[in-house]
Amino acid sequence: MAEIHLIGRAASPGLAIGPVTMLTAAVVRRAASDDPAQEAAALRAAIEGARAEIAEQIKTIQGEVADILEFQVAMLEDDALADAAYEVISEGITAHHAWRLALDVEIAGYRAAEDEYFRARAADIVDIRDRVLAHLSGVDTVARITGGSIVAADDITPSAFLAADWSHGGAIALAGGSPSSHVAMLARARGAPMVVGLGPLSWNGQPPALALVDGDAGSVIFDPEPETRRLFEQRMAAANAALAAAESARLAPAYTADGRRIAVLLNIAAPEDLAGLDPAICDGIGLVRTEFLFETSLGLPDEDTQYAVYRRILDWAQGRPVTIRTLDAGGDKPIKGLTIDGESNPFLGLRGIRLSLARPEVFRVQLRALSRAAVHGVLKVMLPMIAVPGEFDRAGVMLDAEFAALRAEGTACARPPLGIMIEVPAAALCAEDFDAAFYSIGSNDLTQYTMAAARDIGSVADLNDAGHPAVLTLIARTVEAARKLDVEVSLCGDAAADTRLTKALLATGLTSLSVAPVAVARLKAAIAKVGS
Ligand code: PEP
Ligand code: MG
Repeated sequence: MAEIHLIGRAASPGLAIGPVTMLTAAVVRRAASDDPAQEAAALRAAIEGARAEIAEQIKTIQGEVADILEFQVAMLEDDALADAAYEVISEGITAHHAWRLALDVEIAGYRAAEDEYFRARAADIVDIRDRVLAHLSGVDTVARITGGSIVAADDITPSAFLAADWSHGGAIALAGGSPSSHVAMLARARGAPMVVGLGPLSWNGQPPALALVDGDAGSVIFDPEPETRRLFEQRMAAANAALAAAESARLAPAYTADGRRIAVLLNIAAPEDLAGLDPAICDGIGLVRTEFLFETSLGLPDEDTQYAVYRRILDWAQGRPVTIRTLDAGGDKPIKGLTIDGESNPFLGLRGIRLSLARPEVFRVQLRALSRAAVHGVLKVMLPMIAVPGEFDRAGVMLDAEFAALRAEGTACARPPLGIMIEVPAAALCAEDFDAAFYSIGSNDLTQYTMAAARDIGSVADLNDAGHPAVLTLIARTVEAARKLDVEVSLCGDAAADTRLTKALLATGLTSLSVAPVAVARLKAAIAKVGS
């Protein structure tokens, strides 16, 4: 059989080889009754069963994964999701059929959405559909993925991903999918290589037995010839040896080959991301995305809740600097009850600092919690999506006021230094005009605004290139301004973890990069090669 080469999009880095597991969800139907009342009751019980099952799972996990499951619980708690199903049940359709019909309409709606964020959520709705069907049928439909196998499927649900053990290798090869889906985020966090958008996985006759997945290049080879396999295994062995060497050097500070000390900081989305990590792996925390606090079904977080979370992070850092970003809602991060629905272009709308300034009653709570946490370590506060100095100044006045109010009340507090993210080309070009204590370059947004190529639209992914000379020039421009004004500058966008760009980024004069914990070893190894 000739080997099959497929090219897709890289969604999670790394190389993997393994037997192919084709994912198909087999659902066995329960014996349905012809009584609509009984069918409606069965569906209600199945929805509740699925909801309770997920709620139990949430108790055992944390961070990003828990957020994903929270989303599913919120969907299942929303009565509107099942309304259409109950309606057709009352017309005599079985619970199983009605639920599938209703959810398939939902899924089609998500898949057809213009926004890739919503398209990527389709896999969650498939997950919800199959979980409830499993409860209706009394059958566990979550596919069993054996450790180390290459999962080939149209798409994969978060449940199916989480049910598998990725600690012994394995990878994912999808006909569809998206690099910004929840599963892609999970794959990156667990270190499982993943390629999406391979197109139809159709075979003449037998499905493939073995596959090679290149999560760096975004390609998959099914049923490789012996020579192809040998060369791939050679590459894998070299990459694994390099990674093992890098892992062992993870706790050491990073230096370039020519002796330049580079600070490596962490990006985290929640304190749980730090569980089990030795603070010695980093020089501090460069970005805490606080959106997770606002994305729960419990409503906006109060001051004490926020303070407790910020304090936990500062305690972990043991005196290392911690940069916490104020809420960056809007754009690709809608938050129910806070962000504006129906903006024609949310990335150019009321997001980040613009939203915080428009909702001072919400922003002030966060500024108070941050000022209280600031007594427990070296806290820096960073404002997202700053475009003009007026925004920075207004936020500074509000921070001063909250700090003064806390002091007047006799509450322990400190006024943290206030810095800005450089994500808007206007801010990069006029960085000197801000009275900021530090800059942190958000290359994800800076790239999309410079290249006019949205970060979540797959069809313009090639243009969304942080290595483009225009983006690198804006980064260099910002570093130059920081040097002139003697303020610190770091880069915390995804470009920091893209080791193909390490040399170019350090050539701009940057000496501080902030990445997710899983990317630290790889980045330190790449830094060590610069200047050799
Ligand atoms: C960025 O834009 O590079 C950044 C770090 O912020 P986020 O990805 O959260 O928008
Ligand atoms: Mg950003």
